[in-house]
Amino acid sequence: MNIETINKLCCPFDRADLTLTPIHTTVAGNVDEGYLSCGQCDRIYPIVRGIPIMSPDEYREFELEKPLLDRWKAHLKGKTIEHFRLVDET
Ligand SMILES: [Zn+2]
Repeated sequence: MNIETINKLCCPFDRADLTLTPIHTTVAGNVDEGYLSCGQCDRIYPIVRGIPIMSPDEYREFELEKPLLDRWKAHLKGKTIEHFRLVDET
């Protein structure tokens, strides 16, 4: 998904602006892998193969997302994921 489109997205829960952390960008400048995070509710929305995963919590499966998030650990700025939210490691 291209950065311009991504920048138009807002959090589906509180409509707050999302911050994009690109992890892998294609030569065309599209974000292939990365995540969006909400400054309001701290939810994290992974971008997988260019598609942001923005389903409600009850339709998300942490077990499916965990391997991806583990792989991205270096990009999570020392934070960890709990209930799809980016929180400070305790
Ligand atoms: Zn939010």
